[in-house]
Amino acid sequence: MNANIELENKYLLLTPGPLSTSASVRRVMQRDWCTWDKEYNGLVQDIRHRLVALATQHTEKYSAVLMQGSGSFSVEAVLGSAIPHNGKILIINNGAYGARMVQMARCLKIDVVELAYAETQIPNLADIEKVLEDDSITHVSCVYCETTTGLLNPIQEIGKIVKAKNKVWIVDAMSSFGGVPMDIADLEIDFLISSANKCIQGVPGFGFIIAKNEQLQSCKGLARSVSLDLYDQWNTMQQHDGKWRFTSPTHVVRAFYQALLELEQEGGVAARYQRYTNNQQRLAAGMQALGFELVLDSNQPQSPIITTFLYPNEADFSFQALYENLKQAGFVIYPGKVTDLNCFRIGNIGEVYLDDIERLLNAVEQYRQA
Ligand SMILES: *Cc1c(COP(=O)(O)O)cnc(C)c1O
Repeated sequence: MNANIELENKYLLLTPGPLSTSASVRRVMQRDWCTWDKEYNGLVQDIRHRLVALATQHTEKYSAVLMQGSGSFSVEAVLGSAIPHNGKILIINNGAYGARMVQMARCLKIDVVELAYAETQIPNLADIEKVLEDDSITHVSCVYCETTTGLLNPIQEIGKIVKAKNKVWIVDAMSSFGGVPMDIADLEIDFLISSANKCIQGVPGFGFIIAKNEQLQSCKGLARSVSLDLYDQWNTMQQHDGKWRFTSPTHVVRAFYQALLELEQEGGVAARYQRYTNNQQRLAAGMQALGFELVLDSNQPQSPIITTFLYPNEADFSFQALYENLKQAGFVIYPGKVTDLNCFRIGNIGEVYLDDIERLLNAVEQYRQA
């Protein structure tokens, strides 16, 4: 018996995952579940079907696989399971998450071609076309919302080139799926990767892959890892009605199911996208009015997920002091990740509304005036 358990959140997480969840998502984790019991496996199946339905109108061609671990584990499961030993992948990299895919591919001894850009730069379509003249390339991957900056990469245009060349198309939609409308059939995506604690607004503990059935089938026997064998995980879930291979994060899965229901109640992805967009626009305008410049300029595709701000050009500015001050006021913001810029980030996904953004802006203003 412990009377000192903290149940209330002390601050709002303005970080793009883990993020602030609703009280009801947290509350449903109070119950324990048996991993192999029908009741729990039925929940898993329902989640898998809902994920496919969120991803596309052409549901019959696709399947969802849930994978233990953070989002990166699911990215690694795809890279390690989809590319045959004589395959070769082009990875488009304009941020920390693109770079992480390159690191994974190299660690897994996959033949990789990296097309690298500055973090604030949009990948160039002509460059991609040129690299794909190399016929030995079998797979292409790219991040949709690069959380490093908040840039939204042009996956529709890139995908057209990738599919015209008949390559397998992998998209890290970690911080966009569920918060930005997309149809993976229209986008011709073969493997889409996301996780529980991003725009679906669940708690951290697993990732998921939504992929074409035929692509999942062709992963058979290719995995470079037992735990991260995408085919085996999928096949087990298919054959045994929602059973995971190893211990699954049961409470997290139950919370995710609640989060999916709440996404539906909000009005689906379109409504959530609108809320995030309103948050982002108010945040960007308000921060600019307080003297913080945006890292992305207005003709770059800014996602509604996260915004990057430059440190103000003042000798005595301290991010750490701003961070601590805002934390006291009830907001946690995010350090920057752009290599050669002094910047910080503020996320606006999760259980975050315009009122919260207004309160944050007031807190920043008070700090600036103090
Ligand atoms: C969050 C995120 C990931 C996964 O990060 P984890 O810390 O492993 O959950 C991967 N790619 C992008 C674009 C992300 O935003």
